[in-house]
Amino acid sequence: MDTINWSNLSFGYMKTDYNVRTHYSNGQWSKPEATSSEEVTMHMAATCLHYGQEAFEGMKAFRGKDKKVRLFRMRENALRLQKSCQGIMMAELPIELFEECIIKVVKENERFVPPYESGAALYIRPLIYGTSPQVGVSPATEYTFLVFVTPVGPYFKEGFKPTPMVIMREFDRAAPLGTGTYKVGGNYAASMQSGVKAAKLGYSAVVYLDAREKKYIDECGPANFFGIKDNTYITPKSSSILPSITNKSLMQLAEDMGMKVERRPILVEELATFEEAGACGTAAVISPILKIDDLQVEKTYQFCKDGQPGRISKQLYDKLRAIQYGDEPDVHGWVTILD
Ligand SMILES: *Cc1c(COP(=O)(O)O)cnc(C)c1O
Repeated sequence: MDTINWSNLSFGYMKTDYNVRTHYSNGQWSKPEATSSEEVTMHMAATCLHYGQEAFEGMKAFRGKDKKVRLFRMRENALRLQKSCQGIMMAELPIELFEECIIKVVKENERFVPPYESGAALYIRPLIYGTSPQVGVSPATEYTFLVFVTPVGPYFKEGFKPTPMVIMREFDRAAPLGTGTYKVGGNYAASMQSGVKAAKLGYSAVVYLDAREKKYIDECGPANFFGIKDNTYITPKSSSILPSITNKSLMQLAEDMGMKVERRPILVEELATFEEAGACGTAAVISPILKIDDLQVEKTYQFCKDGQPGRISKQLYDKLRAIQYGDEPDVHGWVTILD
């Protein structure tokens, strides 16, 4: 086998040994099978290709000091995928089947779970899509659920570092009563124009506002938003954001640390009052925000005055990572240790 340079991984695709698949037809899911093929074939009129019947998940496996492999909050991902399936009328995957496929794919690719010391992890990408032909707009009758894995490097190569983000009021990611709460590919297609534009301007992410009034913070591209002030962790409540499992975990940890936690609408102007702000998601855990430029109205909200991450963001980040890697006790039962 090739040797992998664990300290030099990026967040990209690397071929591993196997992916795991199960197919749905006639109301039944097939027994999950591992394959080494990286290809999928399907009917050219498959609903995923025409009408966007596709949803995905993102999670990670971590290797601890004890060399054991840990999965973080797998059940939450299973439940969220079910919500996404309901949201765009796809066959739901049973929780047990989801978990079986995840465990199988990680075990089959165990040699790709990076060593503890590298700070890297095995990224797990489950996806589900409609495969049967339809020309009129209606849900497929057949689906494929597939999970592949790829080792990814630590998100912060040069250390935990704040980056600039941007509000671009000419773009929306999701409609108030649309699909924003589901983890579906279509939402990402809707965010490409703004994302590419933001990157060209030197920003790491777009901070979306609520599409109806453009008054409140929704989320940061592929990550949720939180702000910190007066020993309080504040995160938006909205009908168009994706319920992040990282955010849910950080809210719990903030509470454990004795902080107040608020989930409520956040006016854009309130950004001026936050001592710290961050984006949170599986990829980075926390990505501290240096500043947010609200381009159209020419306003800037500055957070890390000295360019360094805030104290509480760092504490939350360290705590969550310690639980994921098994350095701290898993008091909330978030971790599945593979045998
Ligand atoms: C996946 C995702 C997140 C982060 O969710 P986690 O469960 O924390 O990884 C946030 N926003 C959007 C739009 C997402 O797709």
